[in-house]
Amino acid sequence: MAERVTRFAPSPTGPLHLGHAYAALVAASRGDRFLLRIEDIDRPRCTPEFEAGIYEDLEWLGLTWAEPVLRQSTRAEAYAARGDIKAALSAPQEGAPMIGPDGPVYPGTCRGREHDTGALRLNMGAAMARLGAVSFVETGVDAGTHRFDATQLIETVGDIVLARRDIGTSYHIAVVVDDAAQGITEVTRGRDLFAATAIHVVLQQLLGLPTPAYHHHRLIRDNQGKRLAKRDDARALSKYRAEGATPADIRRMVGL
Ligand code: GLU
Repeated sequence: MAERVTRFAPSPTGPLHLGHAYAALVAASRGDRFLLRIEDIDRPRCTPEFEAGIYEDLEWLGLTWAEPVLRQSTRAEAYAARGDIKAALSAPQEGAPMIGPDGPVYPGTCRGREHDTGALRLNMGAAMARLGAVSFVETGVDAGTHRFDATQLIETVGDIVLARRDIGTSYHIAVVVDDAAQGITEVTRGRDLFAATAIHVVLQQLLGLPTPAYHHHRLIRDNQGKRLAKRDDARALSKYRAEGATPADIRRMVGL
């Protein structure tokens, strides 16, 4: 059987909490090769201290990952090259590109640079007119093939930002480019990212990248049933550790 490659891709914008521990443990358990990616494109919100905390917490949990760790802050060139979706959408049926001050603009496909935000957006309607429908194989929650047609994507997702003015790329482009670069065969992530997965499959198709399998997992909730968020420092792994909890305790707390 082909090697299964999975990843855990945290953003160093806060301490890892129980939800992260669960996500990392699920990803590691499902891969023959388990990779780590630091999603730090949003520079002002990311700190070296939080990044150091990620390595410390994961090691404490007993996880090991194949080196090197991919840090998204080092990947601007890769995103610029692959993130130039205008080129990927420049099929003959789209019409000849108009060359403007910002480079080629493909009419009816890419809405171009917005004067108000400076962001580059993908016209979902035009993208889906070209792709027809997209699908991916789900191995977790609601296992099976999930298919999205143009109407669904236009109504539920709509146009998406491909490149923010401040960082020159976006979460969506960075994830799609890096999952392909790292040879990920199954993306494990929380079910709250289900809509993002549909976007990623569209981008993979447009960029000619493979679509991995997806394993959306349940979310870890607090006692009130609310999903844990970064600001829930009370659930930080480092805090449990300081209070004497063991990795086995953490596994039990997240139901593993
Ligand atoms: N970096 C994202 C997060 O911390 C997850 C990445 C992904 O699964 O695409 O929530």
